[in-house]
Amino acid sequence: MEYLSTRDKNLRVSAAQAITTGLSRDGGLFTPVYFPELGALDLKAMCGMSYHRRASYVMSKYLENFTTEELRAYALSAYSSEKFDTPAVAPLRQVDANTWCLELWHGPTSAFKDLALQMLPHLLSASLRKTGEEKTACILVATSGDTGKAAMEGFADVTQTKILVFYPENGVSQIQKLQMVTQEGQNVGVCAVRGNFDDAQNGVKRIFSDPAMRDELAGRGYFLSSANSINWGRILPQIVYYVSAYCDLLNAGSIRLGQPINVCVPTGNFGNILACYYARRMGLPVKKLICASNCNDVLTDFLRTGVYDRNRPFHTTMSPSMDILISSNLERLLFDLSGKDDALVRSYMARLSETGRYEIAPQMKARLDEIFYGGFCDEASTTRTMAGFHKVGYVIDPHTAVAAKVLHDYREETGDQTPAVFASTASPYKFCDSVLNAIGVQPVEDSVERIGQLQGVTGVTAPSRLAGLAGKEIRFTGVTDKEKMEDVVHGFLA
Ligand SMILES: *Cc1c(COP(=O)(O)O)cnc(C)c1O
Repeated sequence: MEYLSTRDKNLRVSAAQAITTGLSRDGGLFTPVYFPELGALDLKAMCGMSYHRRASYVMSKYLENFTTEELRAYALSAYSSEKFDTPAVAPLRQVDANTWCLELWHGPTSAFKDLALQMLPHLLSASLRKTGEEKTACILVATSGDTGKAAMEGFADVTQTKILVFYPENGVSQIQKLQMVTQEGQNVGVCAVRGNFDDAQNGVKRIFSDPAMRDELAGRGYFLSSANSINWGRILPQIVYYVSAYCDLLNAGSIRLGQPINVCVPTGNFGNILACYYARRMGLPVKKLICASNCNDVLTDFLRTGVYDRNRPFHTTMSPSMDILISSNLERLLFDLSGKDDALVRSYMARLSETGRYEIAPQMKARLDEIFYGGFCDEASTTRTMAGFHKVGYVIDPHTAVAAKVLHDYREETGDQTPAVFASTASPYKFCDSVLNAIGVQPVEDSVERIGQLQGVTGVTAPSRLAGLAGKEIRFTGVTDKEKMEDVVHGFLA
């Protein structure tokens, strides 16, 4: 299958090219030319498979020049028992009679990003071979906290790659920061940016679209690549767990084959929920996609009004991975909803960068209404939701709480009692202070000691890698102004 740019549908590339470059040169995002079908027979077959096999089954539909054997080997390695602490990889936990929580944090960095970022290095290395690329991929990442760590964990010491992560100096949790600045590996680098996530992301985008930078790096044997969710190699592995969750519900006898479910996703850059939309496009019986935001509710307003307007205050919340005002992957949704109208997408994106605002056409808004519901959850409700879940014996992190609350609101508002799955995107142990506060315990001073403290209070064992952070050496202390990120790249590659 070929991939085309959301800003120029005549620009077509192979899967391997889409994965090696990440972002199209015209600034667009690569999307599949069509959505392969996933019918009842596929779902039936997948019910009998392990997560690894489900992953290679779904991915092979999109990656024609990769053999099934290759993809199976990648999945076995990416989702091995050394990496994930449960053989189910992405287990469902039943919350009540018609609600399930999809736990996506059993990987090495305790956030859902591992599901994609353990797979991406395999896909990228293979793509370099398949395209005959000899230069080293310099992967630039802007992170709101979880991507940076998960990307470095995936790419550490992978040959023909170097990875440099930028994070907002005051926009990530203590644990997230510690996870990043203690990262091991010869090919990794980390730098804080004075600014918020959008500043870091804009800096990375600026570097990507600078032809002089591209030429200079090429002369030195490098090309720029991306591990952000704009890379198709990030989105594809995420489609898998929605399909897998549906199979698990079937296997448990909780739903009948073909019965629709609703899915609620805590959303920032719109990557995770887009993967679910793509699963739906393939035929997975998903009725409503419920998009949950924190107080940075730009997507809620967009889904309700059809107006995307980033001109609003930026809030730093206890769910930092969703503190985003420009959701890059929305562009892929617009492209699909408009029937691949690249000129229209270009005009929206131009308006977004010039005025920070655009309004979609009424027909597109109507399509959006059929499929999506948007809601947001403020800080007080996030805390109350974590407390409520703790009372019934389930400890959840703030991002997950946002999703749980918005799903609740959706049901109250619409009366829709379709069986529903909400995504749990991070382990509560990544956000100990917020969780401890929510359950009425004063957090101790030291951020790593809070892990033990939370474990003591809840009796739920903390992920061993988080607990092991205390003894690790701090390797990266750099901070840069957002205008000077180019210099950091040069220094890193020098
Ligand atoms: C990245 C992240 C999100 C947001 O996911 P998007 O794909 O950017 O929408 C939500 N929760 C957590 C814990 C994350 O790390």
